[in-house]
Amino acid sequence: MKNFEWVQPETVADAVAALGKPGAMALAGGVDLLDRLKERLDSPSRLVSLRKLPGMGDIKVAGGAATIGANVTLARLAADPALKASHPIIGDAAGHAATPQLRAMATIGGNLAQRPRCWYFRSEEFVCRKKGGTECFALDGDNSMHAIYDNKLCAATHPSTVVTALMALGARVQIAGAKAREVELASFFVTPETDVRREVVLAPGELITGLTVPAVPANLRTAYTKQVAKQSFDWPLVDVAVALVMEGRTCKRATLVLGAVAPTPRRATEAERVLTGATVDVMTAGRAARAAIASATPLAHNDYKVPILEAVLARTIMTAITGRAS
Ligand SMILES: Cc1cc2nc3c(=O)[nH]c(=O)nc-3n(C[C@H](O)[C@H](O)[C@H](O)COP(=O)(O)OP(=O)(O)OC[C@H]3O[C@@H](n4cnc5c(N)ncnc54)[C@H](O)[C@@H]3O)c2cc1C
Repeated sequence: MKNFEWVQPETVADAVAALGKPGAMALAGGVDLLDRLKERLDSPSRLVSLRKLPGMGDIKVAGGAATIGANVTLARLAADPALKASHPIIGDAAGHAATPQLRAMATIGGNLAQRPRCWYFRSEEFVCRKKGGTECFALDGDNSMHAIYDNKLCAATHPSTVVTALMALGARVQIAGAKAREVELASFFVTPETDVRREVVLAPGELITGLTVPAVPANLRTAYTKQVAKQSFDWPLVDVAVALVMEGRTCKRATLVLGAVAPTPRRATEAERVLTGATVDVMTAGRAARAAIASATPLAHNDYKVPILEAVLARTIMTAITGRAS
């Protein structure tokens, strides 16, 4: 591992200045970044620890809306009583990510900005498109855990499952940098077609300071499911977050977000159209799920994910409606 300078700023302005230097990288819990250093994917000349930045470790819920600092760990997101009451699917998603030890280290800022876990990208032997090469090795290789949508250029999936729930709730991301800005979480991710070498809109010198999540109206029904291959901790095969604005049994607006199936978290817009204006029951949930998978483009070794996604999406829609896991 290359030597690097260690900086621990105590203000956001100092952190932005420190990150503006060539070769500087932000360090939060280190779960992803330390792996990448060991895998020789990254060799920063300077690590800027975000641990001491004020206000970035807080969760506040006021008037039903939540403000979440970027340094809040997934363990705290899963356990915070106010957040559990105001936005239960955030805790569901955070509590099912990784393992208890990892959740105690991993921050939500790092979770949003972590890089894909594609085994070709993570191996120094494969110079794939994400590393400046000309090939996506997963397309003709072992793509069993890869994208089943939007996978022409790069088949790596975005690794965050917490994002799926946050996006369904309309979260926004606060970014500090030369100029502070706020973006919808849905617009925070970059598709391979836009820039295959990065996954998020952060420019050099920018950092996430936190997230805001709007209040959940009384008629919003939500549910989250992470489907894994084994019962102990695992990366997702698929994960799904559902948010339905209901008037009686009729869906007025549907937001369905799919994780682990595309290079970015993906709205299931075809399924949203089926649900909007419809009476939501097992039949419509099934139709919506079928509409969602109609545009899937699975690869040679991951078509098994398509029926799993269909079943998980239908089930999660019904869980949102009935309040009971089915
Ligand atoms: C075995 C295993 C299983 C896992 N399972 C899941 C899972 O099921 N679901 C899931 O969502 N995740 C999962 N993860 C991923 C884990 O949750 C993330 O790696 C972790 O959240 C990253 O957070 P961190 O604070 O450790 O980030 P770091 O490793 O410190 O940073 C990650 C990246 O984000 C950047 N960064 C960090 N903070 C900021 C900030 N505030 N602003 C801008 N950039 C920043 C860093 O520069 C770096 O590039 C798993 C990880 C492992 C090892």
